[in-house]
Amino acid sequence: MHNEFIDKPDKMEEACGVFGIYAPGKDVSMLTYYALYSLQHRGQESAGIAVANGEGIKLHKDMGLVSEVFTEDTLQKLKGHAAIGHVRYSTMGSSLVLNAQPLVCHYLQGSLAVAHNGNLTNAGELRQKLAANGSVFQSSIDSEVIVNLIARYGQSTIEEALMKCMIDLRGSYSLVVMTEDKVIGIRDPYGNRPLCLGKLGKHFVIASETCALDTLGAEFVRDFAPGEIITLDKDGMHSRRYFTPNEPAVCIFEYIYFARPDSNIDGINVMQARRAMGRELAHEHPLEADIVIPVPDSGIAGALGYAEELGLVYDTALMKNRYIGRTFIQPDQMGRDLGVSLKLNPITKIIKGKKVVVVDDSIVRGTTSRKIVEMIRSRGAKEVHMLVSSPPVMHPCYYGIDISERGQLIAAQKSIEEVRAYIAADSLHYLSIEGLYRALGKDTGFCSACLSGNYPIQIPSEDELGKHILETSQHNRKEARKCGNAR
Ligand code: 5GP
Ligand code: MG
Repeated sequence: MHNEFIDKPDKMEEACGVFGIYAPGKDVSMLTYYALYSLQHRGQESAGIAVANGEGIKLHKDMGLVSEVFTEDTLQKLKGHAAIGHVRYSTMGSSLVLNAQPLVCHYLQGSLAVAHNGNLTNAGELRQKLAANGSVFQSSIDSEVIVNLIARYGQSTIEEALMKCMIDLRGSYSLVVMTEDKVIGIRDPYGNRPLCLGKLGKHFVIASETCALDTLGAEFVRDFAPGEIITLDKDGMHSRRYFTPNEPAVCIFEYIYFARPDSNIDGINVMQARRAMGRELAHEHPLEADIVIPVPDSGIAGALGYAEELGLVYDTALMKNRYIGRTFIQPDQMGRDLGVSLKLNPITKIIKGKKVVVVDDSIVRGTTSRKIVEMIRSRGAKEVHMLVSSPPVMHPCYYGIDISERGQLIAAQKSIEEVRAYIAADSLHYLSIEGLYRALGKDTGFCSACLSGNYPIQIPSEDELGKHILETSQHNRKEARKCGNAR
């Protein structure tokens, strides 16, 4: 439908991790650093921490992993009573430090910092309206629209300003906002991205995923309700809900791939959900195999579930090099192809002469799967069957996961048989959407647009999409020239 625009090389999507803490007397920058470390899987392109000390907000952010961006020295300089942090995953075109978060600005009431996970679907429209009223923009990211909107409502209290913003904003957003004396978390009215509240001693923290709470030794309090705004300040924690909740639309891909298995999202443990997906896959497609092997790490839970349900032998026959990032980060096709053999190596003695079932959580472009099947076959496997513990990804996501380009979604272009032929497997089987819902224990409350094509949250107009992608790519090209490279 939107092919003409979506096939452009630059993507507007990004998926991120956010964190916030209000804790006078604690080393808030160090705690944020640890929290971001445990949210690193949500974004590896850039990282940033902003700290409020009652007089202003200090910021440090850069391209790279959390461990690369911060040193003891930089953390020492970030002293205060509250902090927010952000990790960002983005595609090459928009990988610029200018687009890293948190964003910090000064407005009528002092300093303000914002960290955003998700994707607005009316950012272009809002940007235009704001620009017409004199707002200036420095980056190409949606989140800057949010900052400008808040500033525009600067006469109101921050909570009222945020409420007004929520009326304007469309799309997906889990936000952490910090003023000089408050940290505020917001989950959009659909609850599309996860966001949870934790308690660390007498202080509160906000995080994208519960694994960050576990890392800090914080107690899980609860998930944010869709449309909920929670303020942390010197008086503790206050919750407001400005929106009558819609039917929630929690991203189903968080459960399939994105979140860390030790996290719980809205009461569902991610590891258990993935294992149940594997068991459902076994019900739907029971194969007689000599051995079931996962594509690590994302396929482990599904493979376990598949093997245990059928009483088959599970083994880890693909060794993963722990020291490289996700292959998706590789900028081009050649990089991606090479990335796979750099990242995974089959153990010949385990698979030789066997009928092998390989389980992965999802197929997006098909490049990784093709390479894996080829590797396993070249090491002497008798048969290689690819089993996928989620349904085919056939539709672009406009809400913040990096599966935006329909042209690159193999299942959108090819039939299952054609995908099987492309990846050169002896057979290929996906979990059905009903099976996925059975594994998750319910069939409502999710956004499964990438699988079903039913978009529960307003998607960008074609106009908006074209404009935004065009602006983003023009802006990025300009910036890339300025910086000498696009990293
Ligand atoms: P493919 O065969 O489609 O090239 O790659 C499949 C692999 O990509 C699976 O192992 C899956 O875990 C991973 N994957 C799925 N969605 C995403 C995503 O949004 N980002 C990244 N980095 N990897 C993904
Ligand atoms: Mg994977």
